[in-house]
Amino acid sequence: MKDDNCIFCKIANGEIPSATVYEDERFRAILDMGPASKGHTLILPKEHFKDVCELDEEYASKVLQLGGKIGAAMKKSLGCTGFNLVQNNGTSAGQTVFHFHMHVIPRYDNGAPIVTWEPGSPDSEELKETAERIHAEL
Ligand code: AMP
Ligand code: ZN
Repeated sequence: MKDDNCIFCKIANGEIPSATVYEDERFRAILDMGPASKGHTLILPKEHFKDVCELDEEYASKVLQLGGKIGAAMKKSLGCTGFNLVQNNGTSAGQTVFHFHMHVIPRYDNGAPIVTWEPGSPDSEELKETAERIHAEL
């Protein structure tokens, strides 16, 4: 299914031109227009899924492997020494385009920090209680 109002549906299906890194029958991978680092790529499914919770098994089973393949190609072609796979779900998580996408962000030695957080320090009781609350909904 495509969504006529979705820009990533149009890009993924070639209706809007993009700097395409990779394409197959399910996915198009394009360069992000506001890159966190040189080569920052977005993997877009050609079907519309709002986020990872909607992604069907067929796509889900392929997307991680494709991220790894593109990351490995970045190391050879761009000289990055690592890469992050980042995937945002929901506004509070930083999602701004509501068509599932996975970021592949090349990381260069001495590059700026990109994906960071301040580690918290919960005690073991809090960890246990939090784990149980999540588990109960699975
Ligand atoms: P997210 O914040 O995870 O939803 O990521 C959306 C990403 O899409 C951002 O990094 C934007 O820079 C990028 N983006 C939005 N529109 C376009 C576009 N037309 N072409 C390429 N990248 C885009
Ligand atoms: Zn879409």
